[in-house]
Order: sequence, then C-alpha cells, then structure tokens
Amino acid sequence: AGKFYQFMMRTKQPAGTVPNKLYLVMDDLANTHGNGTLRLTTRQTYQLHGILKTDLKATFQAVIRNMGSTLGACGDINRNVMASPAPYAAAARPEYAIAQELAKDLGDLLAPQSGAYYDVWLDGEQLLTVEKPEVVECRNDNRFGTNFEGSPEPIYGTQFLPRKFKIGVTVPGDNHIDFLTNDIGICVVMKDGKHVGYNVYAGGGMGRSHRNNDTFPRMASPIGYVDKADIFYAVKAIACTQRDYGRRDDRKQSRLKYLIHSWGVEKFKSVTEQYMGKQFEPLADLPEFTVPTYHGWNDQGDGKMWYGVHVVNGRLRGDAKKALRAVIERYELPVRLTAQQDLLLTDIDPAWKADITTTLAAAGVVDASEIDPIDKLSMACPALPLCGLAITEAERGLPDVNKRLRETMTKVGLPKEEAFIVRMTGCPNGCARPYMAELGFVGDGPGSYQIWLGGESNLLTLARPFADKVKETNLETFFEPIFAEFKKTKTSGETLGAWANRVGFDAIRKAQETYEAA
Ligand code: SF4
Repeated sequence: AGKFYQFMMRTKQPAGTVPNKLYLVMDDLANTHGNGTLRLTTRQTYQLHGILKTDLKATFQAVIRNMGSTLGACGDINRNVMASPAPYAAAARPEYAIAQELAKDLGDLLAPQSGAYYDVWLDGEQLLTVEKPEVVECRNDNRFGTNFEGSPEPIYGTQFLPRKFKIGVTVPGDNHIDFLTNDIGICVVMKDGKHVGYNVYAGGGMGRSHRNNDTFPRMASPIGYVDKADIFYAVKAIACTQRDYGRRDDRKQSRLKYLIHSWGVEKFKSVTEQYMGKQFEPLADLPEFTVPTYHGWNDQGDGKMWYGVHVVNGRLRGDAKKALRAVIERYELPVRLTAQQDLLLTDIDPAWKADITTTLAAAGVVDASEIDPIDKLSMACPALPLCGLAITEAERGLPDVNKRLRETMTKVGLPKEEAFIVRMTGCPNGCARPYMAELGFVGDGPGSYQIWLGGESNLLTLARPFADKVKETNLETFFEPIFAEFKKTKTSGETLGAWANRVGFDAIRKAQETYEAA
C-alpha cells in the first residue's frame, strides 16, 4: 500500500462569525473528510484535522461555496482578524458591531488579490461572495518601497510579508481577545455614545524558541489614536513598514515585534506616519479592561438571546457535537467562535431557550456555571499528536492537569471559587498564548514544561519564565508550596498573577524551598 498523506485545514472567520449554513457544512466535513472532530482555535477559526490529500479539493470547495474561506488562514500574510465576538445588537452596544465590522473589512483589505487561490481550489472560478476588496482604495502606501500599485498584490508586492501578521480589534473595557498579543491591536474609541476613532497598538506576538534569548513574547506597544476615517491608512502603513523593513534573512527575527524592539517605538511610529501621510494623536483614555467569557444565557439587546457554551480546549466531538448541531440546525442559529475556543449560539428567540437547554444537557453539555472556574478560563493548543512542532502534550494533557491543580489547591485550603488563567502549549510557539496566562505551561521536553508566572487576570501583563523542565509527574510537589504561600499571603480578591508580581519570584522560590507539607 502507498502512503496516505493527511493535512490540517484552517479557515478564516473574521470576528469568529460563522453563518448557520457554514456551521453545518463544517460539521459535515469533520465527519466526511476530517477525523470526526471540529477544533475551535484561539484565533476564532476552525481547524479540521486528518484530511486526506485526495479529499483536499472537495473539502476546500465545500468551504468556499458555503461562504467560508481559508485564504490567509496561514502563510506570511495577514491572518484571521479577531474581534470581540459578543453578539450585542448594534443599537444596544454599538462598539461590538463596529469592532466586528472592522475585523471583516481589515480581512478584506489585507487579503491577497491574486486569483491563484481560486485557480487551485475552484479551477479558476472566482466567487463574488468572498474576498471583495471594497476597502482597498487607500492613499499610496508605497512611499519608500517599490510601488506595487497596478500589480496583482498592491499591498504585499512580490514577496508578501516577512512573516505571519496578526490583527485583533477590541472594544473599551473588554479584553476577551487578548488584543495586545497581535502585530496590530486596535481598540474602538467612543465619545458620548458615538464612534469617533481607534487606539492603535503594534508589535505584539507570542512565539519564541527555547534557549534563544533573541526570541521572546512581546505585548503590542501603544502607537496612538486615529480618527475612524484613518484606520485603513494606519493599518496599511504598519503592514507596509513591516513589509519594507521587517527582517527577511532570519525567520526567527522576522515578526514585526522584533522590528519595533530594535528600532524603538518612536522611530517605528515616525516611519509608519510617513507611509500613512499623517501623524498619530495621543491615545484616547479607555476604561479598565476585564476578560469576559460570554458563557451562559445573555440578552443581545434586540429581544434575542445568546448562549455561550464552554468547549473543552476547543474540541467538539461525540454527543456534544451532535447536540450542538441539532439545535443549530433546528433553529437556524448563526454561531460565533470565541478567542477562548468556545462557541456562542446567537439570535435565539427566548421561546426556544428551554428546548435548547434540555437538548444540550441531555448530551452532557454542561452549563458553564457548573464548570470548575479553572477549566472555564483555561486553554491548550492541539500539540500531540496533531501538530508537527509539538514537544509534548497540551490539549490531551490539560484537563487532567487542571484537575490535579484543583486538588492541590483544595489540599492547602484554597476555596473552590479560587480561579486563575491556566494555558498550556506543546512547544514555545505559544499558540494558546501561555505567556499571558497567570500560570503558563510551555512544553520543553517529553512530559515536561517550562512554567511561566506573572500574567494577570486582565491579560495586560506579560508573564515571565519561573522554572524549566518541570516534570508533569511532579506537578503536585512543585505547586503545593506555591499555592500554600499564595493562600497565606494573598490580599483580598488578589488572583495568582497579581500576587506573584507583588511578592516576587524570589519569595515564591524561597517558599518552595522551605515548605513543609502539613
Ligand atoms: Fe503546535 Fe506549538 Fe502551536 Fe502547540 S504551540 S499548536 S505545539 S506550534
């Protein structure tokens, strides 16, 4: 027998928006061409694993013909644009609709224009419903580099970008999407209930390599405020600065974050302003950020409801997958994918609530209010056996690790409501954003993890490496002294990340050394 090559397909879903029909198609494809499961990613997209090479074309065609796309889901171009996915009605919370619309427009703006994608997957037939670049008419963005106007790729030129490029759009006070982990983080700015502009941040990114200190996770730096009419120019200007100055000789140094790190924010800003043809203004004031999960039953503000379902590490399978499909099909519900790998069923008539609740409960889909808060907030990347870069387990390992963390917390007397953000990845690439977590596990060997501490509950502080090569088998021994010290010295309402930063890593290490189990 010959070899059977299998592939992973990732879709592009700006703001995590999934029309009803596309949801059903993805659910079918998982069964017919995938491995029977659907993976919801940390960037609000789908991944289908296990597609045989012979099934690739049929799978792509089914996605594209049903209002989906995979164009730009991978490669050295702009990736899926994230946005706060809560489906609030525009009349109730306009900032959400504004962020979601901008995510879609930026996806169009930075989509590759060449027809090669359609040549390959649709034999050249270009569907009108996808990738129409209606917002491309911007000022000349090629002030210094080659002028690519008139070429098939007016923004990307002949070589595309040096590396992948990520954008996230959030709304004031809501950091669900971890917006500062993107190459460009954007926050909608409202004034007296009216949309006026955007705060722009640049140079975020998670990926790093072990034992290479020239690589590091970084949060986006504040760049400035632009009026709403200028946001496309600002985004194009930043992408073009990266296109022309980002390093192309070393892929490990080619993300925008390294350009900004080496230039400094002021130089980066000034070069970007020359592309933009305008200056950034000082950032607008924003309220404090929190990180909502959007779980459970919520009012959209238009008489409809949404129901946020917690999906363990984004993996839909078995009876839960079937029951979700059943209610989504029965009531023709559109769906949103969240940045925490969860699912929002939207546009629900309150009269359907009882049936949806019963159908899901019968399939074992537990309401988020009944889930351990540590599980609710945690995320893991696919890692073994699905990712070629994985060094160790993540998705398959985290549920048990969470359980053992909870048992250890209970042992030292922490209450069951005590919660913090746990994230695990199978390698330092950081797909589940472990460097923002209050407790990050980053695979550094078979069954072993580098431990990161010091991220905070609002996802606005970068964690720092605390320990290397912590064996998964030794988890209790390692964490019991930390949790005991946390319980002893935490202030009221203080979560693990804020505590770790207040007391400092030296004090935590000392507590580990001197700990005597009760
Ligand atoms: Fe793969 Fe590493 Fe990303 Fe996990 S973090 S999915 S192991 S590349």
